[in-house]
Amino acid sequence: MLVTRFAPSPTGSLHLGHAFAAIVAHDFARAAGGRFLLRIEDLDRTRSRPEFEASALADLKWLGLSWDSAPIHQSARTLLYAEALSKLESLGVLYRCFCSRKDIAAAIDAPHEPAETIYPGTCRHLSAGDQERRASATGIDYAIRLNTTRAAELTSSIDIAFTECLALEKPPRRIPAQPNMLGDVVLSRKGNVAAYHLAVVVDDAAQGVSLVSRGEDLLHATHIHVLLQALLGLATPLYAHHALVRDEYGARLAKRDNAHALSQLRSAGWTPEDVRHALPSSPNYARLLRAALTNY
Ligand code: GLU
Repeated sequence: MLVTRFAPSPTGSLHLGHAFAAIVAHDFARAAGGRFLLRIEDLDRTRSRPEFEASALADLKWLGLSWDSAPIHQSARTLLYAEALSKLESLGVLYRCFCSRKDIAAAIDAPHEPAETIYPGTCRHLSAGDQERRASATGIDYAIRLNTTRAAELTSSIDIAFTECLALEKPPRRIPAQPNMLGDVVLSRKGNVAAYHLAVVVDDAAQGVSLVSRGEDLLHATHIHVLLQALLGLATPLYAHHALVRDEYGARLAKRDNAHALSQLRSAGWTPEDVRHALPSSPNYARLLRAALTNY
């Protein structure tokens, strides 16, 4: 059975880009007689708000989308993430990172956003004793990172790859994972909060998601997710990375840009059909997926 999901973070209003991601996942599930699930990615407790969740659900209903069971909330699943983290710890693929954003920027000596840069691995080289000493001095004020190189070594005998179903008009493509693409990613944030890469892998498996559809801006993340699935002994779903909705200047939409918020469009008189017509040049995604899955 095909199981898809839409996983919004309730940190702002849904915009046209979210509508597209939700519609693709929904239509895939409906075209294949499968299930469409929702997951509220509310791990960021300072930015997540119940009113954003409520408005997201209202927007989805307005779009005419229905989901097949009550949404799950990441904020209620910390125990599952802790279990996965301790499994990874026992494999020896984690280390504690005490760097601040400023430290990372300085080590890289580049002026761009640290969040978009690859971590230079500074704390990877701390001895176990040094890690202990610094951890007891800082309390829980450290992040936990994946030692991607060690993880890749550990899984080198396994064929780590994923199947991309949305190679438009082409049969599904098998893509070998390149685990180093994002460097040593954070799996647990300062203050002991599970990070996106860990939570998404745990939850996609727990929800039985068999096709992850999401924007092509997350293609890089998939390379890490496949590695984490191999380490945690979880099945790798199919993937479908769809085009992004862009504004008139070609930039991807941001939550702070209210002009494309679904609630604004609705107030301006848009209908759900208008939304569907405004989405990237109308490849019929459900038809493509059906063809892809038949050939698969
Ligand atoms: N919560 C993520 C977002 O809103 C979704 C990521 C995913 O689909 O894996 O961008």
